[in-house]
Amino acid sequence: MTHDAAFDTVLAVDWSSGHDRGAAPKQDAIWTCLARSGQPTDPVYHRNRQVAEASIADTIAQEHAAGRRVLVIFDLCFAYPAGFAQALTGTSDPLAVWDWFEERVKDSKHANNRFDLAGQINAMFPGIGPFWGNGRPHHDVDHLPRTQKTSGYGGHGLPEFRDTDTAAKGAQSPFKLSGVGVVGSQVIMGLPMLSRLRRGFGADLSVWPFQPATTPIVLAESYFSLLPDGLDRDLHPIKDAAQTTLYATAFSALSQTDMAQCLDVPASQEGWVLGLGSQHLLRAAMPDPVAPTSDSASGTKLTPPPLRNDCFAMPQGAHWTPVDAALDHLQKHLSPVTGQDIIHVTGAAGRILARPVIAARSHPPHPNAAVDGYAFAGPLPPGTHDLPLHPGRSAAGAPFAGTVPQGHALRILTGANIPSGTDTVVLQEDVTASDTRIALHGPLKQGANARRAGEDMTKGDIVLPAGRRLTPADLATLAACGTGDITVRQRLRVGVLSTGDELRDPGSVVDDGQIFDANRAMLLADVAGWGHAPVDLGRAPDDRDRLRHILTQAATRCDAILTSGGASAGDEDHVSALLATTGSFALWRIAVKPGRPLALGLWDGVPVFGLPGNPVAAQVCALIFAYPALAVLAGADWQPPQSFTVPAGFSKSKKPGRREYLRARINDGAAQVFPSEGSGRVSGLSWATGLVALPDDGIDVRPGTPVTFLPFTGFS
Ligand code: AMP
Ligand code: MG
Repeated sequence: MTHDAAFDTVLAVDWSSGHDRGAAPKQDAIWTCLARSGQPTDPVYHRNRQVAEASIADTIAQEHAAGRRVLVIFDLCFAYPAGFAQALTGTSDPLAVWDWFEERVKDSKHANNRFDLAGQINAMFPGIGPFWGNGRPHHDVDHLPRTQKTSGYGGHGLPEFRDTDTAAKGAQSPFKLSGVGVVGSQVIMGLPMLSRLRRGFGADLSVWPFQPATTPIVLAESYFSLLPDGLDRDLHPIKDAAQTTLYATAFSALSQTDMAQCLDVPASQEGWVLGLGSQHLLRAAMPDPVAPTSDSASGTKLTPPPLRNDCFAMPQGAHWTPVDAALDHLQKHLSPVTGQDIIHVTGAAGRILARPVIAARSHPPHPNAAVDGYAFAGPLPPGTHDLPLHPGRSAAGAPFAGTVPQGHALRILTGANIPSGTDTVVLQEDVTASDTRIALHGPLKQGANARRAGEDMTKGDIVLPAGRRLTPADLATLAACGTGDITVRQRLRVGVLSTGDELRDPGSVVDDGQIFDANRAMLLADVAGWGHAPVDLGRAPDDRDRLRHILTQAATRCDAILTSGGASAGDEDHVSALLATTGSFALWRIAVKPGRPLALGLWDGVPVFGLPGNPVAAQVCALIFAYPALAVLAGADWQPPQSFTVPAGFSKSKKPGRREYLRARINDGAAQVFPSEGSGRVSGLSWATGLVALPDDGIDVRPGTPVTFLPFTGFS
């Protein structure tokens, strides 16, 4: 394999001071991830330190045996603040501290002596400290203060932080042994492991930055919060796993030159966070996207976890659930269910980003001219000026290769690179030009009519976040900063099913007891308008076995299902009856008008939204509840519909208790409502261009009262 990476392999390790965490992968445990050339493998969970240490040693040995140069980065301080090593070991060598701890730390799956050891160290220092934070609530430890605020803490003569901790914003003190964001305990429980690795690999291994990083195996400390939040989103549902994946990927993608820059820090006995000060390099090196592979042996698994069986379970009470509480529940308990695709930015409008996009190039990449004119070195003082014209010109796509002599001007066209020797452009209309000279009036500021490199976007910046549904303008933004392929969510496949014996297809021959299926065409169009892939599931009769069969079939080809009708608790309400057999069913009594109970549940793991049958209620519930819920399932951010406050063009007294949605449209800047509130009037939905939402509380609306208007076009 030929590439110019400094290391063939990067192994990222997130260490932990906790007890054995059990067989199933968990948060706040030890995770490792191995990456090569910007391609991560599946992150690995280690239930305790013993198995983790064995695995790390094995991995290093394997890479080494295969002739691959390996960098192991630990989210773990490699040293303590200046003066600590000298006081503890009699030498300033931080590696002597490693050996000191290796000799004394006693560690098993369920107990260790880290607090006692910290107390013993404190006893060697004057005053109280430097360690603080006894994490055992009912057990005092000699010489170890409970908190940093314990009276008398201090006087031990050491700084609390290393220089690198101060420089890495948010990093914690290695002397802190308990509490939020604690790192000190991990350090005590990690140094013995590091010490053993070091001895095990002898001269083939070096510890950066205390030793030159020239060996086949290099250990370094990093800080797995160096890069902006959100970059690791979607790499893995468990944060620690996602972080190790991100940092293994980023460091393994660095070119030799960039890695050399990361490694080039002033030697210090306090150590240094690898990558600190070089975050822009890490970000720019990140292959975007990290290709999701279907080959789970070598690629990161990016299939989202299934929804939890209790995702629709809301605390039930005698009261009707307010609309906002229902929405809040959906927002908190739903998560993306779709996989990922890599597609080209052209044609990606309406798709949802599965990963943030990082600018591959600054925009503009070079300073360039904002107008047609003449470039020279600014500024120009007030008065008239006469500049000799340098031969040649700079045009967009055909930059001028030479340097313009001081005091000379060069012909330049809009979008052309500002040539060397110049920084300012005068508009051609402001100049009298001959073949050899230009005359113009000052003053002209330095940099006038020139665009700065990167003034729009800077290489390495996150340009658009994951969860963003791409607009046409987004495509231009992405293209401009050098984006070709992007990782997007696969489209959410949403099935639409109508239920009821009385329903017939539009346009067919019907008898008196039958009506046309109005909901299906509407809901299919809604789903398409919201950017999902609609799946027409047809009609189901009021027959439980038939409906069961249809749902089971649908669950194999849909990511979510919208049904209408049969969602209440009556004899012929087969949707709710069937969902009730799944153990995931909830009948939401929402304080909303129009609306009936909303039946929610998972059918073979696929979320089913049982909407009311009445077309007006079906549409209102679809817009208010299904629209934002489906957006989250599709991988987009929670999207409340667009709304405007407008004066009412109507009068209405509304009692408190239920949120009310009225079919409305804007006339002369005021909201008019459909004359009949009868929810059977489908035509009122066509008359309307949106909904007026009246608050849960009572309200006396008069012409001019401000009301909330939700345009139908805002649901898209
Ligand atoms: P249900 O919730 O099944 O009791 O239905 C409530 C009302 O909505 C009944 O009058 C149904 O006939 C009517 N309805 C149900 N589904 C549809 C549909 N797809 N199109 C038009 N009306 C419907
Ligand atoms: Mg029915």
